[in-house]
Amino acid sequence: MRFLITGGAGFIGSHLADRLLKKGHRVLVIDDLSTGSIRNIKHLKENSAFSYVIDNVMNSPLMAELIDEADAVFHLAAAVGVRLIVESPVHTIETNVSGTETVLKMASKKKRPVLVASSSEVYGQSTKFPFTEDGNLVLGATVKSRWSYACSKAIDEFLALAYQKERGLPTVVARLFNTVGPRQTGRYGMVIPTFVKQALTNSPITVYGDGEQTRCFCHVADTVAGLEALLTNETAYGGVFNIGSTEEVSMNTLAEKIKDTCNSNSPIKHIPYDEAYEEGFEDMQRRIPSIEKIHDLIHWSPKRTLKVILSDVINNVRNQLS
Ligand code: UDP
Repeated sequence: MRFLITGGAGFIGSHLADRLLKKGHRVLVIDDLSTGSIRNIKHLKENSAFSYVIDNVMNSPLMAELIDEADAVFHLAAAVGVRLIVESPVHTIETNVSGTETVLKMASKKKRPVLVASSSEVYGQSTKFPFTEDGNLVLGATVKSRWSYACSKAIDEFLALAYQKERGLPTVVARLFNTVGPRQTGRYGMVIPTFVKQALTNSPITVYGDGEQTRCFCHVADTVAGLEALLTNETAYGGVFNIGSTEEVSMNTLAEKIKDTCNSNSPIKHIPYDEAYEEGFEDMQRRIPSIEKIHDLIHWSPKRTLKVILSDVINNVRNQLS
């Protein structure tokens, strides 16, 4: 098959490209390199089944052409990372909403199935654990810019589902929970690459808040297997699916584990949220997915533990530093 991956030079998109190419598919990538990087796809440049375009998904005539060349579309292009969202809310909202609108409009003309990547952020401050896809979304006030991301992703989901219902376009929504692995940069605030780099350079490991907040980290190789399974399985169309790990860890424990595994002398330093992000910043205390739905439908579940994830990220950051 021929797949178009928007945001294909990003961390997740480039791993998805690797996987699809390995399985003998053809892959076309569009990325504006705002958070993605040519470094992520440079090993694919010689592959004749791979091609890429550096441009923005809001370029409608170009998107019409690229979608026409593909059998199905993974729409991953989005503003990512909490830090970026807090610092550039206009960019976040525009990219996420207009970008998805363009992709769905053009895909609808050509009737090409689309997977829209959403985020566990949409659950917001819900405390109904684990998060199930039909659970309520609990978002904060509009004066807190963090919530613009969740809101923009929720609009993306509504749009995808509406295109399926009203225009007959096959769509599927994947809600990605904290995804980590090689190539992820700490530049946009992501915690694991940040802690690993700090530990390997013996700099203070910066734990935000009291560090008792928890997350479940999923290896990107597992995540992209789930994405592929959803878009290539017609029974998933019209649905919303969580993709994530259920292995929960607090940021305090994570900092300790990374420090130990790296044999680091870094001190662990707690930083108040106001200082780390912006005044009044609201974090999620806990975020854990129910993965029953995707498991029951396509038998997907993550295979790699946190230990494997940390070892892969540490090797990757070590190579970058050397
Ligand atoms: N975090 C931290 N130190 C850092 C970066 C992040 O303690 O240097 C915390 C952050 O406040 C959150 C968790 O780690 O509670 C996960 O953050 P990340 O940005 O990776 O993903 P999020 O779950 O916020 O989307």
